[in-house]
Amino acid sequence: MVDHPLTLMAVHAHPDDEASGTGGVLARYAAEGIRTVLVTCTDGGCGDGAGGAKPGEPGHDPAAVVATRRAELEASCRFLKVSDLELLGYADSGMMGWPQNSAPGSFWTTPVAEGAERLAKLMRHYRPDVVVTYDENGFYGHPDHIQAHRITMAAVELTGLPAKVYWTTMPHSAMVEFGRIMAELGMDVPEPDPSAEEALPMGLPDEAITTWVDVTSFGESKYEALAAHASQGDNIFFLGMGVERFTQLMGTETFLRVHDTTGAPLPETDLFAGLR
Ligand SMILES: [Zn+2]
Repeated sequence: MVDHPLTLMAVHAHPDDEASGTGGVLARYAAEGIRTVLVTCTDGGCGDGAGGAKPGEPGHDPAAVVATRRAELEASCRFLKVSDLELLGYADSGMMGWPQNSAPGSFWTTPVAEGAERLAKLMRHYRPDVVVTYDENGFYGHPDHIQAHRITMAAVELTGLPAKVYWTTMPHSAMVEFGRIMAELGMDVPEPDPSAEEALPMGLPDEAITTWVDVTSFGESKYEALAAHASQGDNIFFLGMGVERFTQLMGTETFLRVHDTTGAPLPETDLFAGLR
């Protein structure tokens, strides 16, 4: 047994990723008395501005976007009952190929060793038993998500602390179901680009998923947390399906276990299996 509060640390790239990707496990484990630490790496300055203005468009004031998203993140954390929010404060690098990739202070141009050292310091402070981040593609290729993955894996290596490390993922069956529901709701489903899919495999075959966590009881918290990020167009899109459909679709969060010292058998249904 561990000599400190059982702790989950989720490392995310932008304000709102905590809600869409891990809102269910953050809410569920908080309800189970586990300390939940959220590390958000960037300020989200490349997000939508007032009225949906994109970076570079008139009406997009990056400083105002950062302030809005900071307040939204804090509101989201209240819905998810996150016990500790840590901000690394790097500048949002924008999508791959954007000039913001190489702007001063961007997360993407920050040396991995530097970001990892800062995160390692937080790991030594909180001593997380379980760490969650993205896979090496940041799931869909966003530079800040890739960088969050890199600094997390480097910090795990530096500290050797977490007993279990997970990457968020999606089973292919859920991705098919997602497309079906979107179409049913009359929402535009982007046609998959076969060449892109080959370059960047998203999600995993169901049988490759190691960890399935039921978070249906926390669908509303997850929905409310995402709703707190209402300035971002992508989230409004998700919220359009309503809390019931949202919970149905997002009620199981799935992970790939990539590091484990507990020996908990796979597949598992609990990130803390083997730890309590
Ligand atoms: Zn993001």
